[in-house]
Amino acid sequence: MNATPKNMPTAPDKDVTAIVLAGGQGKRMGSVDKGLQPFKGKPFIAHVLEKIACQAGTILISANRHLTQYQAYGYPVYPDTVAGFPGPLAGFLTGLTHCQTPYLATAPCDTPFLHDALIKKLKTALIETDADIAVATTMEAGTTKLQSVFTVMKSHLAPSLAAYLKAGNHKLGLWFDTLKTVTVPFAEKEAFININTLAELNAYQLEPANTNPSEPMMDTPKPDRLSVTEAQERILAAIPPTPRQTENIPLLQAQNRILAKDLASPIDVPTFNSAAMDGFAFEGKTYDLSQDLQLKVVGHSYAGHPFTGQLKAGECIEIMTGAMVPGNCDTVVQQEDVQFIGDKLLNIPAGSATVQDNIRTIGENIQQGAPLLKAGTRLKPTHLGLLASAGMATVPVYTPPTVAVFSTGDELCPMDGTLADGQIYDSNRAILMGLAKDLGCPVLDLGIVSDNPEKLEAVLTEAAKQADVIITSGGVSVGAADYMKQVMAQLGGIGFWSVKMRPGRPMAFGKVKTENREALLFGLPGNPVAATVSFLFFVKNALLKMMGAQIEPPQAIAALAKAPIRKKTGRTEFQRGIVNLADGQFTVSLTGSQGSGVIQSLTDANCIIYLPEDQGMVKAGDRVTVYMLDELL
Ligand code: AMP
Ligand code: MG
Repeated sequence: MNATPKNMPTAPDKDVTAIVLAGGQGKRMGSVDKGLQPFKGKPFIAHVLEKIACQAGTILISANRHLTQYQAYGYPVYPDTVAGFPGPLAGFLTGLTHCQTPYLATAPCDTPFLHDALIKKLKTALIETDADIAVATTMEAGTTKLQSVFTVMKSHLAPSLAAYLKAGNHKLGLWFDTLKTVTVPFAEKEAFININTLAELNAYQLEPANTNPSEPMMDTPKPDRLSVTEAQERILAAIPPTPRQTENIPLLQAQNRILAKDLASPIDVPTFNSAAMDGFAFEGKTYDLSQDLQLKVVGHSYAGHPFTGQLKAGECIEIMTGAMVPGNCDTVVQQEDVQFIGDKLLNIPAGSATVQDNIRTIGENIQQGAPLLKAGTRLKPTHLGLLASAGMATVPVYTPPTVAVFSTGDELCPMDGTLADGQIYDSNRAILMGLAKDLGCPVLDLGIVSDNPEKLEAVLTEAAKQADVIITSGGVSVGAADYMKQVMAQLGGIGFWSVKMRPGRPMAFGKVKTENREALLFGLPGNPVAATVSFLFFVKNALLKMMGAQIEPPQAIAALAKAPIRKKTGRTEFQRGIVNLADGQFTVSLTGSQGSGVIQSLTDANCIIYLPEDQGMVKAGDRVTVYMLDELL
């Protein structure tokens, strides 16, 4: 393979092969592949390759993970040939094994400010002193610091190094001691900065390139440990009570939208007196109703078809429920209470009718100008019915935030795909998109994003351009391949929380900023039940607040545990249960396995059993709080 880069700005040294060391485990960065960490718009390794391509004629990369991503830079990529991650020396050996030039240079993958004359200075000293290896040094706090992975060596050292490693050694300095080593001082210590921790990464993102690293080095910051309530409060506090955009939309499209104004009725409902029963209407006040009364039926009033004539004394009309009561009628007698005597003559028995009976009067339901609904009401079908009854064809509602949803994980396969070995179907997207849609938000499906920092960054940036809220799942726990944290931290002020709850402990929350917009980001845990519970107890109210809705706590119900429930103090648990009403008492039992990946624990449930932080084991018969899922979902 031709390992010469295409764009060489200056003449690199053809006698030198440089190996960029990207085979480390990134332990201090939460096991990320450091070379692929984005820094100022591109991965670390891209910075290093750019610097080194001007200095060495041939370039190799030593990497043990994500080989194809490294290969994308156009240089040969080699994994370690010695087992057990013996550190940088394994990369040195890889370089020596594949080096076909007289000299091998080494440099780490995470020094974005690499010295422009590193190789030249080291090689010159190597030749001048006829040493085996030249190693850079810097001055730190008055003492000389060996920059032991910045070297140029003669390429015949492979057997020496292989033997050294085979004997179980891995220390650089001790290997140098077996060789003729020359040290080469560099005044520019910033050129040797390697970024080891997330804190440093964030600091350097903001700093100009030539600042000193902070000493001592900090480890990856521990995520905040928050109680559920603290997390909820922080989230809501981060959402400004800003005036939201409003729009007038047709009533029938307004379901689940949030009313933007207090509404009063423009009309009386009903606008006319109408019959509340099927029966007969007449002018009751002109008769003695304590006596039997005979009236002649002279017409009828049906719903939507009023009686148009005038009633005279001794007359009545037949009337149906909802039909207009003629102007001079004040009484409707139920059809069941009267008898016909002959064809058109009606007998109303003594005492069976009272004036004003069975008449719905004008404005009886709603008076013109009376309040109907308050701003902030989430419009359910019954609300729509109420507004419709007052003849309101359009309603002013807040414009809801647009929500973008994607799932992260190399193991995820879309539900219409074919599972490869080790893959699972992506179920979170179906849940999270559905929950956001149910709240009335327009939802963008951004699919599945692999555990790759560049892709994540690209999708997050794109999402922030289109959406107001981004909901992701996976990649926020303290595990391998969890790049999410690092990438998110670079895109805005994002906090990583360890919420004292189960399921759903890890969570990211913050803002993703693009040039002219910012979106709120919720990085939910990967396990489906954890993602769902996190949505219900954190994201839902945030979306509702952004939509302008009044936020009300769900209705809590006290139920007796049918059987003991295992519970640890110190964390809030959201267990899935079935609540029943028997003999006037609610009882609750768990829905089988409560694993955070068991979606059926949710689909079988009708409630969430809420066990607060200070609660210990629950005994059978203990009173617990439950929230009905119908209300939460
Ligand atoms: P993570 O937080 O990425 O470490 O994921 C935790 C667990 O959740 C792992 O077992 C993942 O495979 C699983 N998981 C992550 N995302 C999804 C998803 N979209 N659908 C189903 N399971 C998932
Ligand atoms: Mg994952």
